[in-house]
Amino acid sequence: MKRKSQNKGKRTSRRRKTRTALRNKADRLFSAAVRERDDWACRNCGSVRTPQCAHIVSRRYNATRWSMDNAVCLCQRCHMKFTHDVLAWEDWVVERFGEERYQDLKFRARQGVASVDLEGIVKMLEGKDE
Ligand SMILES: [Zn+2]
Repeated sequence: MKRKSQNKGKRTSRRRKTRTALRNKADRLFSAAVRERDDWACRNCGSVRTPQCAHIVSRRYNATRWSMDNAVCLCQRCHMKFTHDVLAWEDWVVERFGEERYQDLKFRARQGVASVDLEGIVKMLEGKDE
């Protein structure tokens, strides 16, 4: 049976909603995995209050958004401080992880990805719980 054209919009928007939900799930799992790896403590000041997942290269770039080597646990205070001072953040990252890793992350982020395998990312991150 032919699909009526008026249904098309609905189908697309439902698919987009599912995609957004999946992306949120990937973000949640990723954040938990990063904080778990870093013992739920701020890698800058050591505080265990309000641990957050901070991206080294902005999470705007899908290619590195869910890469474990592109994130670190920071407390809310340090996260906020670095978010507002990008140059201090770059200095901190290079001092802590080295210039090579930072350049590699930037390179991968810029290269981008044709499509993001959200199902695969979620599956991989869910495996980390066990
Ligand atoms: Zn801190």
